[in-house]
Amino acid sequence: MALLKSCKTPEALRQTHAHLLVTQSLDPVCEAQLVASYAGVLGLAHARQAFLSLPHKALASWNALLVACIGHGQAREALDLYARALARSLRPDSSTYTLALKACTRLLAHETGLMVHARVAKCGHVRDVFVGSGLLNLYAKCSRLCEARRVFDEMTKRDLVSWTSMVTGYSQNGFGNEAFAVFREMEYEGVRADSVVMVGLVQACTNLGVVKLGSSIHGYVIRRDIKVDVVLETSLVDLYVKFGFLERAQRMFDRMDDRNLVSWSAMVSGYAQNGFAADAISFFIEMQEEGFSPDVVALVSVLLACSHLGLLHHGKSVHCFVMKTLEFDVVSGTALVDMYAKCGSLGKAHVLFDQISSRDAIAWNAMISSYGMHGNGEAALSLFTQMLETPSKPDHATFASLLSACSHAGLVEEGMIWFDRMVREFHISPYEKHYACLVDLLARAGQLEKAYNIIQSMEFEPGISVWGALLAGCRNYKETKLGVLIAKIVCDLKPDDPGMYALASNVFAMAKRWEEVAEVRAITKKMGMKKTPGYSVVEIKGKLHGFLVEDKTHPQYEMIKKELGRLDSEMRAVGYMPDTASVLHDVAEDVKENMLCNHSERLAIAFALLNTCAGSRIRVTKNLRVCGDCHVATKLISKIVGREIIVRDVKRFHHFKDGACSCGDYW
Ligand code: ZN
Ligand code: ZN
Repeated sequence: MALLKSCKTPEALRQTHAHLLVTQSLDPVCEAQLVASYAGVLGLAHARQAFLSLPHKALASWNALLVACIGHGQAREALDLYARALARSLRPDSSTYTLALKACTRLLAHETGLMVHARVAKCGHVRDVFVGSGLLNLYAKCSRLCEARRVFDEMTKRDLVSWTSMVTGYSQNGFGNEAFAVFREMEYEGVRADSVVMVGLVQACTNLGVVKLGSSIHGYVIRRDIKVDVVLETSLVDLYVKFGFLERAQRMFDRMDDRNLVSWSAMVSGYAQNGFAADAISFFIEMQEEGFSPDVVALVSVLLACSHLGLLHHGKSVHCFVMKTLEFDVVSGTALVDMYAKCGSLGKAHVLFDQISSRDAIAWNAMISSYGMHGNGEAALSLFTQMLETPSKPDHATFASLLSACSHAGLVEEGMIWFDRMVREFHISPYEKHYACLVDLLARAGQLEKAYNIIQSMEFEPGISVWGALLAGCRNYKETKLGVLIAKIVCDLKPDDPGMYALASNVFAMAKRWEEVAEVRAITKKMGMKKTPGYSVVEIKGKLHGFLVEDKTHPQYEMIKKELGRLDSEMRAVGYMPDTASVLHDVAEDVKENMLCNHSERLAIAFALLNTCAGSRIRVTKNLRVCGDCHVATKLISKIVGREIIVRDVKRFHHFKDGACSCGDYW
């Protein structure tokens, strides 16, 4: 026996095996060790052979082979072996059951597990701590928390493994509070938690959205001197980034001694999800420099970052990367569709959409909303009818995309019909965003009364997006009576969007309500500090060039100014008059005109005209809405210079071509 254990080479093992056979000293205990040794030295296939040659084949040898199967990742074979043992009328012991349960857990074979459980209960092994732990772990991993809890409650003795299974089982299945309750019981019983339990608790915090509790766990780990490993650190990083605590996540990440793929991906996705697209991209580059090949989480996140900035060039290189390293499936495909559409390449987006073989609702929604954003409502509608013929059922997000597509394209009839059918046929109760689209649609078409009636029929308090849509309609159609009423409601809601106050102020001014105008001005003055400055980005030969409003620091500023001046006189020659109403400052008219010229998208367009070859397309991304004057100017510029200019503002795309815009001046 000891001799067998000491065999570390195939020769030694074979010699000892032969010796045992010759001396006929192969007892059941030796047989089991022989199987184990073969598995350890020569692998599973040899262990299997050795097992078959055994004269006794007592239970211990079966168990040894079970251990070998599981150790070599052959859970299915382990279960077959277990069934064969039962068929031979062997009486399994607690080790056999523990091993069978381990195999079931690996395969998430809940049904088979139930049969093992029934047998265990009959033979009375259920009180064994290892069998109990095995059952508990199986149920927890199969998301059968009630069954897991029952086993846990019946256990007379619990070890750290069983406590851990219970905590992580609850937390991974979204029962964060229950996970903490078990942890408190655990502390009460004086069981010392380890880092695995802590990971479970941090994940519970992530599910519950309680960041504070998460950081107190961090403190607990330090106080109790629990060994911190990369998994625990990564789960904390994940918690912090998911709730926008990027600085804390960054600190945690910087302190980590070794980082794994998951830690890097968490950072990339954290920065992308929280709108820090540029940081997400630099993390993505850095992780590759550190030798990590990005996983699907990192790739999808970096595509989101590219979409956010409109970085077509970058997005394309990520696309190549996806094709090389990942399977092109519905997840990566949808991210690519979204990226191409948001970077202005609607055609490419559709080609990729067609290549996704099993499209889910999310993929359809992405494509429908892409058409909506680009102002092609008809295409969005026809895509939607195609979707109805597939197994993917439209959800509230699909209808939100569809209604928004209708509103961007002014399809009033269709929007009304589908809103109605959404409620009656698809039984989807409208959310605020659905109402906002519908009201927007009617308000743009001048059907203000109807829009107002719909708002009044809503079952919940309408928010700023709904009222704002109607207010914009009132301004556009110079409807002062209703307008003043709505403007007051909007101001009472205290929106943090300065654009809303500007809108309200316009309506009050139209109604000659100067007192209210002054009030709104006082509010906006206070907010003035916080107002987001306009910012436009244009990508030229893969490099990004950003322009702030009235940005005079650019090295080419003098040339840009000259180009804008040249365009201005050409535009005036065809009748352009700057619409200074778009400037909200209290300054002289000529200053206002000058300010319009310095809007960030104009600087970006002029720069692109100077630095790209004639006839090529120009793509600009802006962080705010395009103002009315820039919209008119860009239409004229597209005609004067004979270029297609695509501007993505915060709401939608404008394809300027030949003096017209794809939005039909509806935006
Ligand atoms: Zn402008
Ligand atoms: Zn437009």
